[in-house]
Amino acid sequence: MKASEVMADLRSRFPGETEYLQAVEEVLGSIEEVYNEYPEFEKYNLVERLCLPDRILSFRVSWVDDQGRVRNNMGYRVQHSNAIGPYKGGIRFHASVNQSILKFLAFEQTFKNALTTLAMGGAKGGSDFSPRGKSDMEVMRFCQAFVAELWRQLGPDTDVPAGDIGVGAREVGYMFGMYKKMSREFTGTFTGKGLDFGGSLIRPEATGYGNVYFLEQMLATRGLTLEGKRVAISGSGNVATYTAKKLLELGAKVVTMSDSNGTIYVPDGLTTEQLDYIFELKNLYRGRISEFAEHYPCEYYPNTRPWKLASFDIAMPSATQNELDGSDAEALLAGGCIAVSEGANMPSTPEAVKAFIDACILYAPGKAANAGGVSVSGLEMAQNAQKLSWTAEEVDRQLRRIMSDIHAQCERYGRVDDEYINYVKGANTAGFMKVARAMMAQGIL
Ligand code: NDP
Repeated sequence: MKASEVMADLRSRFPGETEYLQAVEEVLGSIEEVYNEYPEFEKYNLVERLCLPDRILSFRVSWVDDQGRVRNNMGYRVQHSNAIGPYKGGIRFHASVNQSILKFLAFEQTFKNALTTLAMGGAKGGSDFSPRGKSDMEVMRFCQAFVAELWRQLGPDTDVPAGDIGVGAREVGYMFGMYKKMSREFTGTFTGKGLDFGGSLIRPEATGYGNVYFLEQMLATRGLTLEGKRVAISGSGNVATYTAKKLLELGAKVVTMSDSNGTIYVPDGLTTEQLDYIFELKNLYRGRISEFAEHYPCEYYPNTRPWKLASFDIAMPSATQNELDGSDAEALLAGGCIAVSEGANMPSTPEAVKAFIDACILYAPGKAANAGGVSVSGLEMAQNAQKLSWTAEEVDRQLRRIMSDIHAQCERYGRVDDEYINYVKGANTAGFMKVARAMMAQGIL
């Protein structure tokens, strides 16, 4: 089947799966040129095989809350592709989780992991369970029930989960503990583990730091640096906070952060002390970003995203999918925005992506810009296999190298002319070619 026919076919087979169809359409739209250069891909129906996940596991997760009530959630693991390495991808716990969202994330993860230069296939999992408002004991019981069902599908060379929205060090710790008990093995089957039991230094920081390293590379193509730039960040979770930390270190001004209830705007930029407060607020007290505005008086906009609040030099959406739409993109461009680097997965809608590309600003899709997280997960797997721990400097050095490699791959496949690199085309084509070559070599499976 031709790439365009695959899209039509997927639409009729999975009509309600909007996020999955959106992600596939974006990739197929940008690989058509290279795909047509290899007639053997069509003969082996490669594109259709690559768009459909290898398997999807879905299961009920029953657990008991603090009031003794039995609660039921759905759990999923989408194992998309293991063509270039074991299945690898995070676990998301959020009320909005459904099969379409996890299929899109697993699909994207496959290409992202291919870009990292490490041997990792693509997967994603999760549940419609929300840790927000739950006690530690409830979260622990839920994590144990989730892994009691999933553990047989996992393993250090089979499928290696990690964190994502709603899954941080606490949840990974509980899930790893249960996995260890069920499998009776101490292996590197989860990444993002605590430092005392096999976690890698710099893993918590990696997605945010990696995004800033990628952004620096993009700016350098136009002779620019981060010094003094006004940056709008959405989210205040793992990715957003470490993005902010690295930006402050490099002299940029972080002027917004948000959560699902609203956005703070700090026109002069957050100080290090203020950012430390946000770390504490979010990680220790699991509070709301509105509390920042009570502690450090500043403007707080309930139920509002950052993008239209002021003019920014750079936008780094780091919360969730489809959080920046066409009208947000127009507002950013009107305000003189020169770069958008995505910490979240697919945060920009197709209309927003088109607006950024048409305007020829520096625009990095999540699968390139946020690949630092899974890259250091890959390094955690390598350390676990060696039963060694590398220093923070060593991991950070490798992270920088990988982000620079990813930038070079985007440039190789996405350079349009002397002035412009289309990072969407570059990232999709580089990721696709690697997985496609591996699939061709391994036969029809
Ligand atoms: P966290 O759970 O640590 O933080 C998520 C943040 O986004 C929170 O501030 C949360 O607010 C906000 N948020 C979540 N859902 C929504 C929503 N529907 N609308 C508005 N705000 C929302 O997650 P991460 O920081 O780990 O992940 C953020 C993004 O980065 C996701 O897209 C994830 O897939 C992507 N990513 C994460 C990686 C990682 O290493 N963690 C690696 C690569 C990508 P609230 O607290 O109110 O829910």
